Amino acid sequence: MGKKCIYCRARAGIFGRVCADCKKLLGRVQDLRGKVSFGQFLDGLEQTGIDKEKILRFLQADPDGRGSIQDQVTAEMTTELMQVMGMSGRQTAQEVKRIRDSVGKEPE
Ligand SMILES: [Zn+2]
Repeated sequence: MGKKCIYCRARAGIFGRVCADCKKLLGRVQDLRGKVSFGQFLDGLEQTGIDKEKILRFLQADPDGRGSIQDQVTAEMTTELMQVMGMSGRQTAQEVKRIRDSVGKEPE
């Protein structure tokens, strides 16, 4: 048995859907989001001492279909930037994902 972590797919144990490392990362995300640049955000996550590969997997996971943490944070930062520049509207994680998908896609 044993459930897998919804973020990094490591074994999460019998309780919960998130492993100890990702739980730590989630806490860190809550501390950092909205306060720092994306580079500082990544540095902050690395300060947990968790494997960089695992951090990336965590950031790119989209367990509930609302967009990955990376997309959510990018959307928040973009919205903030738009407001600073006096533009209205807000960027959503779905929109970031859509743009990234369309950019990354090769023409058929
Ligand atoms: Zn995990």
